[in-house]
Amino acid sequence: MGCPICNNENVETLKSKVVPSKTSEINEYLLRCEECGHVFKEHTTFEKPKPIRLIISENGSSKRTDVDIYPDDKLTTGDILISDLGQSEIRSIELKTNKRVKSAIAKDIVTIWALSIDIPSRIGISINFKGITQAYKVDLDREFRISVDDTIKIEDIIFKVNVIKTLKKKMIRGSAKTSVIRRVYGEPVKYKRFDYDLTNKVAVKKENKKR
Ligand SMILES: [Zn+2]
Repeated sequence: MGCPICNNENVETLKSKVVPSKTSEINEYLLRCEECGHVFKEHTTFEKPKPIRLIISENGSSKRTDVDIYPDDKLTTGDILISDLGQSEIRSIELKTNKRVKSAIAKDIVTIWALSIDIPSRIGISINFKGITQAYKVDLDREFRISVDDTIKIEDIIFKVNVIKTLKKKMIRGSAKTSVIRRVYGEPVKYKRFDYDLTNKVAVKKENKKR
């Protein structure tokens, strides 16, 4: 995007906007040449991302979804994709010709075969000691389930879960997978026994005084 008057490449962006379009992503820019001060318009056009079939295998079974990719993007085995099923690593690429390859341009691809990468789910835990909340962030396996009434140990605290807040709702009974849990609330208890210990899963620790 050089200046049409003096060919200088150093330009300042005065304005930019995205122009709506069905098939493309068009960005319009108003630019000023830093050399001669000439003000001019430029635009860039990209084809919009298109869905490609993605098959993710995990623990011997496989799940199917779609992932949106720019048609000109190059994909290679080992690349990490993020879809609604979480992160996965590309293992094989199937072309429209049914051939399996290690690398291809997205518009030639019919199916991406990938392996699920288990990244832990980071959830919050708040333990309410009348007046002071002890808060933690813990990293747990995404499939791990926490139930209301679970008795959990963290460091020297043993507490009982009374509320689980998920992405969608607040639960006062039942259980949820950590992949959908935002925060778990609990009250300290005096028991010696507990269901499980999350001490070595703690990523962040914080003490909050009540406002
Ligand atoms: Zn210029």
